[in-house]
Amino acid sequence: MPKISFVIPIYNEAHIIEEFYRRLKLVLVADFSGFSYEIIFIDDGSVDESPRILEKLHVLDKNLQVIQFSRNFGHHIALTAGSDVAKGDFVVMMDGDLQDQPEEIIKLYNKLTDGYDVVYAERMNKKFGYIQNWLSKAFNIAIKKLINEPIVINSTIFRIMTKQVADNVKLLRERNRYIIGVVGWVGFKHAAAEVEHGERYGGKGKYNLSKRMSLALDAIFSFSNYPLKLITRVGLFLMVLSFLAGIYIIYKKFIYGVPVLGWSSLIVAVLVIGGMQTIMLGVIGEYVGRNYIEDKNRPLYIIKKYLHG
Ligand code: UDP
Ligand code: MG
Repeated sequence: MPKISFVIPIYNEAHIIEEFYRRLKLVLVADFSGFSYEIIFIDDGSVDESPRILEKLHVLDKNLQVIQFSRNFGHHIALTAGSDVAKGDFVVMMDGDLQDQPEEIIKLYNKLTDGYDVVYAERMNKKFGYIQNWLSKAFNIAIKKLINEPIVINSTIFRIMTKQVADNVKLLRERNRYIIGVVGWVGFKHAAAEVEHGERYGGKGKYNLSKRMSLALDAIFSFSNYPLKLITRVGLFLMVLSFLAGIYIIYKKFIYGVPVLGWSSLIVAVLVIGGMQTIMLGVIGEYVGRNYIEDKNRPLYIIKKYLHG
């Protein structure tokens, strides 16, 4: 019997877990009756009733595993911990708030059996606000431009992959983690399947703007050194520009005897170049800082309790 693993990160989702489990079980009966299964919930340091609810479900269903983190490590680290222990021939990653709908898993699976190794969900209708939709579109376009590697970028983590892909994903242990990029990086054959993006079943989204920004930066800085190339180019451009300005000033002075009037042009030049340099230092700092974090070589996560078997 083939085995299918489900990896589901949970952070303060007490209102949702039981409904999620109920719907997933229905799907298992309806669409995956010929499979054995394991459901791996990762409790990412929840401070609500989620850990108790998960423990209770584990007692009822021995195919349901719970990894409890010692604190909040973040969505993408939680996904990593889950896929680290997943043993299925197929591994499904999805959010636990029912925005990724269990009923759609079969669509991903069917597409996979058409001869792919990873099938990710493409959301037809995003149940986000207007601004967020727009931001996420802009982000996806920017990332495609920025990353000059064949990385499949898509804002949802909802996906199914074969054991071979999942095992290779385990080899990548970087701390600044963008799981979509990591899965893309290992290669193999990827395809998209269209799904409905559900409403959050309850509770609130855990990503605020600043968390989203830092995810976006992770995606860019951990997969590309294009920003470094970009600042070199900007620097070169500024040099050419200042050279031309210099020639212009000398020309005016010696041919017409008109000295360039000072203060405004000076202050503009100082501010523009000062601003540029600060940004460039920031970009370099971003890489140095990331290096520093990776160098410490700390474990990706700490497990407080692992309920399985
Ligand atoms: N999540 C997590 N750790 C966090 C934040 C979120 O494990 O620090 C989980 C959360 O419980 C949910 C999934 O990651 O199952 C996606 O989070 P959310 O729904 O808030 O993101 P959005 O759908 O708004 O992108
Ligand atoms: Mg969500």
